Amino acid sequence: MEIEKSKMLYKRALELMPGGVNSPVRAFKAVGGSPIFIKKAKGSRIYDVDSNEYIDYVLSWGPMIVGHSHPSVVKALKTAIENGTSFGAPTSLEIELAQMVIKAYPSIEKIRMVNSGTEATMSAIRAARGFSKRDKIIKFEGCYHGHANGLLVKAGSGATTFGVPDSPGVPKSYAKNTITLPFNDIKAFKSMVQKEWKSIACVIVEPVVGNIGCVLPKPGFLEALRKETEKYGIVLIFDEVMTGFRVSFGGAQEYYKVIPDMTCLGKVIGGGLPVGAYGGKREIMSMVAPEGPVYQAGTLAGNPIAMTAGIETLKILSKKDTYEKLEKTMQRLEDGLKDAAKRAGVKTRFYRAGTMFCTYFTDKDVYDYKTAKTSDTERFAKFFMGMLNRGINLAPSQFEAGFISIAHTKADIEKTISAAYRTLTELK
Ligand SMILES: *Cc1c(COP(=O)(O)O)cnc(C)c1O
Repeated sequence: MEIEKSKMLYKRALELMPGGVNSPVRAFKAVGGSPIFIKKAKGSRIYDVDSNEYIDYVLSWGPMIVGHSHPSVVKALKTAIENGTSFGAPTSLEIELAQMVIKAYPSIEKIRMVNSGTEATMSAIRAARGFSKRDKIIKFEGCYHGHANGLLVKAGSGATTFGVPDSPGVPKSYAKNTITLPFNDIKAFKSMVQKEWKSIACVIVEPVVGNIGCVLPKPGFLEALRKETEKYGIVLIFDEVMTGFRVSFGGAQEYYKVIPDMTCLGKVIGGGLPVGAYGGKREIMSMVAPEGPVYQAGTLAGNPIAMTAGIETLKILSKKDTYEKLEKTMQRLEDGLKDAAKRAGVKTRFYRAGTMFCTYFTDKDVYDYKTAKTSDTERFAKFFMGMLNRGINLAPSQFEAGFISIAHTKADIEKTISAAYRTLTELK
């Protein structure tokens, strides 16, 4: 595979931008090698500047669930652009998208549109703090909720460690209000809540952890979060930026039948444009300005172009049988990948929720951050490169989820499975 033009662009980009990119994982640091620069994308395919074609399982890290440049999304966008790209004043498009989301997520009674997932989680937590008049938050190890100061915190050793910042530039004073606990550990959660509830404003969780691959909640875990937070008057926030409209139309809360107080959305609801949203119970959302005293604003929030892409994407997704078809395609990919690993004699663990998935190179069960870390990342890097060279674009890190879209065909899936088998046989 030739990637000369990509290499040249990368060299140039490195001089101009930190790491040559505008978001870290794009730089291929976790897998080595030089990132491919993309020229265009259509359906399940993306094309790089050297005219290589790939079947895409990154899908812009989740949003492109109807496939790249879907004709009806493109058409709607063209019309919308003709009418002006931003007004800084209300439009009916905001109402339309809000209605669609609220209909799909009964737990959301009122919603606020923002520009990214990061803004959604940051603002949801602010509203929860304003509502509960408490300061501390609980998050879970390995869950990513965007890059806001108080959320870039992981646990130290032991389950009950108070926050230490994960990144230079985050003052200790931000981190000290973040309590980090292991995912799927009901006991650790219960004992922390019993001890600290008076100071805990909210619990924020990725109901399926997509930012360390794809870690599923054990039966009873989300239910326990719901029960305990209810008992102690703590706001339960589901960060469904990735899982929303992905694991099912109604997100993880529909899939697992556990109803949070607040929900954060992003990725799919923007249909490839920058959108995030947070919403929830009326009494909590009424805290948000201008209705209430909790301040949060955005010059481009509810942008008409972004709303249009979101509306069109959700329209396509709400067509009959969309998720049944996605499920069928995904099941074939799951069966094929597992079988390929078995035939090749490579130990892997495969997990998925709806159409987000991950193959870990480990023979241990993966149910939290520590167990995800048992994966052989060097092996993953080799697998990634082998797949890329065979025209399959996976996320360039072991600790990211893969996705499929409605544009992925049977032939795409079969090609991917045979590429996986051939790549896996080289790993032994
Ligand atoms: C992607 C993601 C975010 C951050 O969204 P951005 O739009 O990148 O700011 C937050 N939470 C989860 C679960 C995500 O997957």
